[in-house]
Amino acid sequence: MSATAAADPLLAAPLGDGEVLQLFLDGGWAPAADGASFASEDPSTGMPWASVAEAGPVDVDRAVQAARRAFEGAWGSVNAADRARILWRTAELVDRHRDALAQLESRDNGKAIRETRAEIAGVVRCFEFFAGVCQGVRGATLPRTGPAFVYTLREPVGVVGAITPWNSPLVMFAWKVCPALAGGNAIVVKPAEQTSVSALALAGLMRELELPAGTVNVLPGLGPRAGAALAEHPGVDKIAFTGSTAVGRELAATAAQTLKLVTFELGGKSANIVFGDADLDAAVDRSAFGIFSAAGQSCQAASRMLVERSVKEEFVSRLIAKAESIRVGGALDVRTQMGAQVSKRQLEQIERYVALGVEEGAQLCTGGVRPGLEGELAGGFFYTPTVFDQAENTMRICREEIFGPVTAVMSFEDEQEALALANDSDYGLSGAVWTSDVKRAHRVAAGLRCGMVWVNSYRTWSPITPFGGYKQSGYGRENGVEVMEHYTQTKSVWVDMQDRIPDWYAS
Ligand code: ADP
Repeated sequence: MSATAAADPLLAAPLGDGEVLQLFLDGGWAPAADGASFASEDPSTGMPWASVAEAGPVDVDRAVQAARRAFEGAWGSVNAADRARILWRTAELVDRHRDALAQLESRDNGKAIRETRAEIAGVVRCFEFFAGVCQGVRGATLPRTGPAFVYTLREPVGVVGAITPWNSPLVMFAWKVCPALAGGNAIVVKPAEQTSVSALALAGLMRELELPAGTVNVLPGLGPRAGAALAEHPGVDKIAFTGSTAVGRELAATAAQTLKLVTFELGGKSANIVFGDADLDAAVDRSAFGIFSAAGQSCQAASRMLVERSVKEEFVSRLIAKAESIRVGGALDVRTQMGAQVSKRQLEQIERYVALGVEEGAQLCTGGVRPGLEGELAGGFFYTPTVFDQAENTMRICREEIFGPVTAVMSFEDEQEALALANDSDYGLSGAVWTSDVKRAHRVAAGLRCGMVWVNSYRTWSPITPFGGYKQSGYGRENGVEVMEHYTQTKSVWVDMQDRIPDWYAS
């Protein structure tokens, strides 16, 4: 463990007096049952900076049992008003520690501090919103159609298993934990192995709330081991997963064995459609943000830019200039506009795709290399903002998720062709349309086969807005009051109102 991780006050609780960040399980800190641990790297330097306990199937089983006890015991009897207070107090805790949490997240993930600060502010909003949702989740009284009075109850699903990705670790933690607690569920979270630290830090902070033991458990571990054990566990009622479509497919099959409820937020290959009548300055700036923010590691990344032929040359030259102006650097440096990729593996995947794009015949206009930073950043996982022009929608760089700062520009003649290209994808997460024609904006928004559309903007989110994809981008929605459909189940209660129930066997 480097001095820096050990010195971080937010990690004092998970660290105890040892060197390895512990699992948060059944209300306390614990090493992995088999003593395993793994290193978490600082992507800005490529050096390990924290050592984290690695949960295995035994730990998963313990956590699920603890969650079940909480759900059937003390946590299950906490009413909606008190759950709301817990969520609100969590928002206050995150807000109070927002700078420290952002630092930790940038260190562990490589994302620029200006971005993690905005993300932590989003986490606060998320807990605040779901505090409000708690008491709004309610059943219905149904119209009388016979002798019974029928009402419905909205009940928790029970124990939620959450498997989260590394690209926005604490935001993804909040997107699962908030609706789970709002609905009265207990939860076991398996954060991504690349970025487990912030979830442990927040679990440490949440101890102040004195939640019943087992209500929230955080088990860092590897996907095929801890993640798979969670998905297989018969004591888990629902899996909430954000990650790659490939793993989502596997988890769907695993979860089907025990018929768990599932929500999946998977990959994307989003189309950003720019018409000739768009405000080109705004379109270039925000489209650049759409692909290069989070260093391109976003399921919503604007990885396909569809531009009307009349403005394509102009758009591309301005996009290149923008890409070349972006300051790539260490995550903790406030001047940095784009941080590191999360891992060497990820960096190499991007390099393979860029080589493939060139091989496929797309024109590499800018980027396509590591920036060659110096000093302690020399070993960091940095890549330059990359733009391909003359791409074809049949190319693999236009069909597969690269998850890096690489976009491919294609041109189109008219609205119909733009929509056909945009929708010709296995994915359907998000899309955008840039135009000053309000009718066209709405037509295109309606015509896109995806879960989220921006008009004259890109990559904004809020906890009140449903988030999720069509096609192979996933099942179900996160956020919004709508998400509570996925974290509660409906029970119908029949109350017979007849003085006397007729005897079916009387005649
Ligand atoms: P990426 O390829 O971008 O790392 P993944 O889909 O592999 O995305 O990872 C997202 C989350 O899924 C992580 O928490 C990871 O540990 C987990 N995961 C990966 N493989 C499996 C698996 N076979 N079963 C369960 N979880 C998995």
